Amino acid sequence: MKPKRPDDMRYLSAIPRKEPLAERVLVHNHIQHTPEFLPGQNGFRAWTQIKTGDLVRCACRWAPEVTVHYRVKGIPRKKR
Ligand SMILES: [Zn+2]
Repeated sequence: MKPKRPDDMRYLSAIPRKEPLAERVLVHNHIQHTPEFLPGQNGFRAWTQIKTGDLVRCACRWAPEVTVHYRVKGIPRKKR
């Protein structure tokens, strides 16, 4: 089945406990969060998608059971 969009985002409703499937990466948005935050909490969103150039590797401690995850590049952390 062909993905609807090139990056084929699939939103999560829980903290993932295993690695994404091949060619997919775990991503979250720019909302500040703690390691315990669930996707959907206070505007925090997380999803898996095909890796694209607008993602940067993220070193926060969210989803510790996934080796590497990313966040969206180019969005300010705080809107003022
Ligand atoms: Zn992160």
